[in-house]
Amino acid sequence: MSRTPTGLTIAKIRGVKLRVHFSLFFLLAYIVFVASGQFPLIVGQSGINPFMIYGSPVLWGVVFALGLFLSVVLHEFGHVWVAQSMGVKVSGVTLMMLGGVSEMEKIPDQPFAEFKVAIVGPLVSFAIAGLLWALGAMVSSPNTQLFAYWLSRANFVLGIFNLLPAFPLDGGRVFRSLLAARQGAVQATATTVSLAKGLAWALGILGFFQFNMILMLIAVFIYSAASSELMISESRGLLHGITVGDVGVRTPSLSEDTPLKEAASLMFQTRSRVLPVRAANGQPMLVSLKQLRRVPRDSWSEVSVKDLMIPCPLVPESTAPLEDVLAELASVEFLPFVEGGAVAGVVRYQDLADLVDFRSLDEGFSGKTKKAG
Ligand SMILES: [Zn+2]
Repeated sequence: MSRTPTGLTIAKIRGVKLRVHFSLFFLLAYIVFVASGQFPLIVGQSGINPFMIYGSPVLWGVVFALGLFLSVVLHEFGHVWVAQSMGVKVSGVTLMMLGGVSEMEKIPDQPFAEFKVAIVGPLVSFAIAGLLWALGAMVSSPNTQLFAYWLSRANFVLGIFNLLPAFPLDGGRVFRSLLAARQGAVQATATTVSLAKGLAWALGILGFFQFNMILMLIAVFIYSAASSELMISESRGLLHGITVGDVGVRTPSLSEDTPLKEAASLMFQTRSRVLPVRAANGQPMLVSLKQLRRVPRDSWSEVSVKDLMIPCPLVPESTAPLEDVLAELASVEFLPFVEGGAVAGVVRYQDLADLVDFRSLDEGFSGKTKKAG
């Protein structure tokens, strides 16, 4: 099961955290490498006199890669703004290999809501391509013309590529939302996922024979994203009607000043690898056994939980539907939950995944399930 990637937060725009996944640094470096190699070809195709162009191919590669990065940010925020305009809460955007992953609440259950959110991304890319093209036609500086020509072309390709009818690309969502109107959401997802897997195989084989690493990576990415999309789509149906409190494990909570020694013994007693912390600022946090292990055991009496506790992207009420925390839980594995204003326990991704597995064994199963695992 793949997880939503974590990354480095670089900005916060209108309440939405912009994160950069580590794969992107690798990709940017690769793009600089490829772009600087292709530079003479691009100059040739642009029809601009090469003697009028300043700067080395590597410098141009860097400028191009940064321009492409900004273009992808705009594309991604296109999705975010349309979703926000429908009242969908968006907590963050993680930019990675092929674009981005937006952590948003479930999009309203009307087929065209998903359609609108998805289609705006390629439209933004096409709009950038058009604007850059117009810019290139208006300016007289050969360097600006070259920049506009190159990035315009790249945005056009980005728009076309994202329209391919395969998850996790926008085209996959557009295609699914159109299918969903006729087949229902789960069946439409299954069809689009099969299509995505077929495309992933085709790209992978093509990439292998052309020795194109980017194509092969894209193939792997599409394949795994398509699989997890299917899992999430099926889970939503299976988890319907179950709340965080039904699955979450009730545990005692720690205060900030609890020494690690005490925290460890409480973890042992409750057989819980993670415990909630009542931080002084009122925000529930988490501390895990994994973190405890990073501190030498002989200082467990002196170090307190305060130095290790981590904040959480979401602190649901025990009455919140599980479907609403699915995406967050898949990315962070554990979330604290509250009941009647007080920290009540921890809900684990593993419990939820187990529950989905067991429920899918018996689809006819109805009614609420009390605490799995
Ligand atoms: Zn997109």
